[in-house]
Amino acid sequence: MTLTQSPTTAASTPEEIGTGAVLYVVATPIGNLEDLSPRAARILCDVAFVAAEDTRRTATLLRHVGSHAAMLVADEHHEQRAAQKIAQHLAAGDSVALVSDAGTPAISDPGGRIVAAIRAVGHRVVGVPGACAAAAALSIAGLTHAGGGWIFAGFLPTKTQERLRVLAGWKARAGNDLALVFYEAPHRIDATLTALADVFGAERDVLIARELTKIFEESVRLPLGEALTWLNADPHHARGEFVLVIYPPAEQPPAVAGLDDDADKVVRTLVEAGLPTKQVAQIAQQLTGVPKDALYQRALDLKA
Ligand code: SAM
Repeated sequence: MTLTQSPTTAASTPEEIGTGAVLYVVATPIGNLEDLSPRAARILCDVAFVAAEDTRRTATLLRHVGSHAAMLVADEHHEQRAAQKIAQHLAAGDSVALVSDAGTPAISDPGGRIVAAIRAVGHRVVGVPGACAAAAALSIAGLTHAGGGWIFAGFLPTKTQERLRVLAGWKARAGNDLALVFYEAPHRIDATLTALADVFGAERDVLIARELTKIFEESVRLPLGEALTWLNADPHHARGEFVLVIYPPAEQPPAVAGLDDDADKVVRTLVEAGLPTKQVAQIAQQLTGVPKDALYQRALDLKA
């Protein structure tokens, strides 16, 4: 099927290059409908079929964008059957869009097996990126460790012992250099934060991000030892959907506000003496022993 080109679309987007039908893996909003990209909306209108995790839920989205595509079920129990049908449609020349209930398909959602099967028979697969809870949480975590690397760990097992065993495995894999990203549902957030504190220790920082893109969106960074207190401080804190980011152990929040009075006085004096910022940080470090990054940042702030 031919895809129309919207005025804002560059002529060289993947669907316009080459011929033949395509399986589009389309990200949908995780709460805020405005996060559906114009390209995603166009593709949902242009394809003949939409393969959906939940057809009733996706019907609402299709109505919203004015799509009349036919739907087929692609939930986790029917990935194989869905892949067969999709392959038939593609072979007949009809493009198909694959969506999950929310966010990016195949990220803790069905889709991976379908994509693998479609690739195996040689059809084109094109990703249409958009909302993903993990990416949204990472973007607001403020990770500053070298390389900024992270591991997506998804959902943890529900049974306590199994959860602790799996967590210990993730801890070993992340080592000192990587952040870890978990998904969690509201009814298990309490147990999961407890398990995280048991395995990573009370000192380790976590970002608790809930209801991302929604009205009651909230994100807070705090040591795991304080997480349960935060959770229980307000009944709203335990509601909604969660992403948890465990910071690498070495990473400290920028210590700008954490300079003690003496270090602050040294930086202030050197700045007032007109020294370049780098030199201020170097000299102040020698005099106070405080990490250079924090001193540099304080000098920048004073000069701003
Ligand atoms: N495929 C989706 C994605 O791209 O993020 C994830 C689907 S998974 C079945 C659902 C989980 O994602 C939720 O339990 C929660 O951990 C996380 N999640 C989804 N939407 C969220 C939101 N608006 N705020 C925080 N977490 C969310």
